[in-house]
Amino acid sequence: PIVYHDFEFVLESKAHFDVQDRGVLFADGVYEVVRFDRGKAFAMQAHVDRLARSMAGIGLEGVSATPFAELSYELLERNQLSDAKVYWQVTRGPAARDFVVSESTEPTVTLIAYPTQPIDLDAPLAVGAGHIVEDCRWTRCWIKSLMLMPASLAKTEAVKAGAAEAIFERAKPGTDEKHITEGASTNVFIVREGQLCTHPDDGWVLGGITRQTLLDLAKHLGLPIREDAAFTREQLLAANEAFVCSTTQLTAITSVGDAVIADGTPGPTTQRLHEAYRALLLQGG
Ligand code: PLP
Repeated sequence: PIVYHDFEFVLESKAHFDVQDRGVLFADGVYEVVRFDRGKAFAMQAHVDRLARSMAGIGLEGVSATPFAELSYELLERNQLSDAKVYWQVTRGPAARDFVVSESTEPTVTLIAYPTQPIDLDAPLAVGAGHIVEDCRWTRCWIKSLMLMPASLAKTEAVKAGAAEAIFERAKPGTDEKHITEGASTNVFIVREGQLCTHPDDGWVLGGITRQTLLDLAKHLGLPIREDAAFTREQLLAANEAFVCSTTQLTAITSVGDAVIADGTPGPTTQRLHEAYRALLLQGG
């Protein structure tokens, strides 16, 4: 496969990181994952905008997010792919190891294309279990940072427990009151009391592009929405429906630990949103 690395398209085996890149030493960088179906990106502008926000969020300067769109299309062409998830990464670049960020580093840009299957309208909705893990991440989760150790360890624990996704729970600062924030690499939704609920888009979660797309679709379908308040573990376990979503998945969560959610099958709202979302993906957004 061909990747884009450090200003050029090269064979993956020829692309290397400087051992002193701050991305390697400090996980000092940000990323995006964009989905391409039949040669067309979904929500490209939203990804470009979020990359720009993430870079600004860590004070990373000298890289414009705009060219990532064109670079992605060229990467797909060079790899002869039309269905792929394309990973974008910007690290702060090489510098002698120092906690203090120097202003003179040259950021390293990397793009990798991972082949995927095209949207299949006949494929069934994915179903899996959730596994609750303490959310020990920082309070700037709106930045799509490379600092993914908590998410990686949480997901590994979840998969070992037979679950599809780790679901983070954390106490509000200064209180014992705990809430569900999001998944290791997904946003979490539940349906309760006839409302579609998800954590507010604040520093405790990543503002998922799929999250926003599904909220827009739900509004369009006339479904009542609640995104101003987080929900608790107890409310998740007692929910009528639950699902997790990201650029690469929409999975109905039908159990959490030993607790079965509702009757243990994907609910009607999840099914409806899944159908509407797939139709939108097929249209190209
Ligand atoms: N939350 C976290 C922590 C994520 O890492 C991701 C995606 O990787 C999401 C939510 C979903 O975001 P999106 O729908 O933009 O892919």
